[in-house]
Amino acid sequence: MKVLGIESSCDETGVAIYDTEKGLLSEALYSQVAMHAEYGGVVPELASRDHIRKIVPLIRETVKNAGMTMQDLEGIAYTSGPGLIGALMVGASVGRTMAWSLGIPALAVHHMEGHLLAPMLEEDAPECPFVALLVSGGHTMLVEVKAIGDYKILGESVDDAVGEAFDKTAKLMGLSYPGGPELAALAEKGKPTDIKFPRPMVNRPGLDFSFSGLKTAALLAWEKSAQTDEAKADIAYAFQEAIVDTLFIKCDRALKQTGHKRLIVAGGVGANKRLRERLNDLGVEVFFPRQAFCTDNGAMIAYAGALRLAAGQQEPAVISPQPRWSLETLTGLPEAV
Ligand code: ATP
Ligand code: MG
Ligand code: FE
Repeated sequence: MKVLGIESSCDETGVAIYDTEKGLLSEALYSQVAMHAEYGGVVPELASRDHIRKIVPLIRETVKNAGMTMQDLEGIAYTSGPGLIGALMVGASVGRTMAWSLGIPALAVHHMEGHLLAPMLEEDAPECPFVALLVSGGHTMLVEVKAIGDYKILGESVDDAVGEAFDKTAKLMGLSYPGGPELAALAEKGKPTDIKFPRPMVNRPGLDFSFSGLKTAALLAWEKSAQTDEAKADIAYAFQEAIVDTLFIKCDRALKQTGHKRLIVAGGVGANKRLRERLNDLGVEVFFPRQAFCTDNGAMIAYAGALRLAAGQQEPAVISPQPRWSLETLTGLPEAV
């Protein structure tokens, strides 16, 4: 089954075609990052308008690059939440309308299920059951995945998401938006010093996270420092170590608690090199998407949607995007229910 996937939950317009027989056929991405950088963060209304401008040309390009015509499509999957309501509305209305006009089924995809299944687009795909560490701009979660659609949240952030902590700390240190990747690059130039940041909530039982205190700790260290490039890199290093250590400890705990022997990591922060390196020391099999599929993309939505559409699931001819939507409300694939 050839499925067109559309992602528009935040500031990336992503489109892809996934064929359940041949795999990923084509994909295209347009990032609005440069536009939002001027404001230091995503401006929701500008995001919606830019999705409107880019979505149809991107769909045409993706279909053409797959060597197909619109009539060859057999299903359409679009991100229906969580995310910015205006941005979600664009992908949902375009996707649902296209499916209706082509007479093919449509499916509303949960953005975090998209992230969670992204490692399955790789050749060495993980099999269920596993523990998933989802680390993105808006979410930090440990999820027990017994089967596709069977998700139990083991722990999550009580305040800032990891990506958000990276971005906010980068901003405090004068880096440009979105600062996460820049802060990570800076950390690679830093070295261990006597600056030590807390590993929040590791001494308490449970699997929840808290990252909002780390940015304050980084700001105080920066204000106390000589404010040189070297000091900035050393603070970035200490900050990244604190985050990576905390995630390592909680993943280890989640694996022991559930008894699962596989970990998958997904979401934008999954692109972080130091995190990828450290988690390989957990002593279990660890799976990551390729770097480009850690951050938002159409491929993960096409894939998640294709699994469900191929199993017979579909939506009526209405759209109901959900800015807030719990992963735990999802159900398994129809045949498994
Ligand atoms: P959500 O998926 O929760 O709705 P989102 O879609 O905005 O949020 P993603 O696109 O998955 O988030 O990830 C973007 C986040 O990942 C940003 O916060 C960004 O700073 C962070 N990020 C990307 N690359 C890196 C890196 N190498 N190191 C640390 N953080 C990174
Ligand atoms: Mg983004
Ligand atoms: Fe995302």
